[in-house]
Amino acid sequence: MLILFFSCNQEEVIQLEEAKDITIEEVKEAFNARKKQNANARTNGSDTSIDILWDLAIYKELNVGDVLFFPTKSIGGEEGKRYVSSGEGTKRFPVDYTSFGRAYKDEKDEVVLEYVMPVPTENTAEFTGYFLVSDWGEEVKQILVYENGNLIGQTNPQSQNEISNRSGGNCSIIDHWWCVQTSVGDRIVATRCTYDGSTMVCEPDELAPPDPSNPGGGGGGSANPSGPNGLCAHPFIEGMWVDCDAVICSENYVADENGECVPDCGENMVLNSEGNCVCKQGFVSDGEGGCTAITTGLEDISNCNELSTRDNFKLKNVVDNYLTKCTNLQIFEYVVGEEKKFCFKIDGTQDVPGGYNYSTSDITFKSSELINETTFGEEFFHGYQDLFYGGLNQYSNVGRSNIEFEAKLYHDLTHGGLCCLAFEEPGTAVFTEYLLWLSEVSNDFTQLPNWSEISDKYFYFMKQFINEKPIYNYPIDYQLIPNAVLNLNDC
Ligand SMILES: [Zn+2]
Repeated sequence: MLILFFSCNQEEVIQLEEAKDITIEEVKEAFNARKKQNANARTNGSDTSIDILWDLAIYKELNVGDVLFFPTKSIGGEEGKRYVSSGEGTKRFPVDYTSFGRAYKDEKDEVVLEYVMPVPTENTAEFTGYFLVSDWGEEVKQILVYENGNLIGQTNPQSQNEISNRSGGNCSIIDHWWCVQTSVGDRIVATRCTYDGSTMVCEPDELAPPDPSNPGGGGGGSANPSGPNGLCAHPFIEGMWVDCDAVICSENYVADENGECVPDCGENMVLNSEGNCVCKQGFVSDGEGGCTAITTGLEDISNCNELSTRDNFKLKNVVDNYLTKCTNLQIFEYVVGEEKKFCFKIDGTQDVPGGYNYSTSDITFKSSELINETTFGEEFFHGYQDLFYGGLNQYSNVGRSNIEFEAKLYHDLTHGGLCCLAFEEPGTAVFTEYLLWLSEVSNDFTQLPNWSEISDKYFYFMKQFINEKPIYNYPIDYQLIPNAVLNLNDC
């Protein structure tokens, strides 16, 4: 246990315990000598612009003896902060917040003074990347490799020439940034970073086993002040306090609710569960990689007021959500363009979840619970077919199976493999065969197929469909191909 008291004059450290292996005075002396030496050598390295915050130094007892750890501070005239990152989309670490110095005495009683800069190479809960150890000159003299907070290996401290000259091994480009934050009150509203050059670091093919005298990886720390004078706990050195500074995400990445850097999808987009950027609710693809607001909705296709307020609200949300899919929007725009409107009703007497009546243009749901995208989508598609084929009355017998199968095929093609309506029992041979076929003809559910891609098996699956679902067992019209689906454009 060590106890240090810091006086207000900051220079003076009163130590209550037995003498340490190394004193702050000795470290200061070594640091000033190094500074002078670097200045004389006209070293232009960034390390010469780093100062030590002596009054925040702490001791740790390690196997090399007492080690003094101290926070460092960039000396920069301009307003802004140095950041470091490696790899696309990894976090950017604020150098002043994450870097640190350490000093101890070697076997010859010489002061060893080191500057350690952590560089993240991957986004993991705990630190993954390198600790670059330099001797306060330009050269990296040792690399410590961390994987999710664990030190997994390190280079030999003597092999500094090898580190820079090595051809083999695993190399990373380290990018340096100069970031300026714009704040409104206490809140940081924007961080603008400019690129400030790159360096490369290579792991050797074989790393030495970790030396237990090295500090643990830590987690990147919390930038919430919890220490004295509004200071934050250092992210890697337990017990050391530093100025607070948040880790930030690189360009085109944003921190999610867990503080992880995830791709920034851009305006009006969200990241879906598969990690793809999609339009958020109320927006639809503009065909050019962006999303535009949907200005249309239930009111454009409804001509009566038969639903309860609650059911109407529910249906309105279903329609808004339906419209976020761009092929759905095409169907919708076609229907609105033809000025067709529907009367939405609940009909508890029907024995199917939804119904479309081509004589009355009623779309009915068996219950409130069945006001959902699947039911709405199917019946609305029938309304679209009604317009597209010039009246569904011609298919009340022959071709009725075609109309039903096409509506279900459209659903199944546009739900990313989370389907199916045409065949509903996963695990059956026909379900598996159908799903495989859908995936094949739609380039894994990313595009709508054309007729030549589906013609050989289209009627084969339609026959299977009416065998499985006798309710749709009407004569097939082999001249009627699914043009209402084929008419839609990919987006
Ligand atoms: Zn139907």
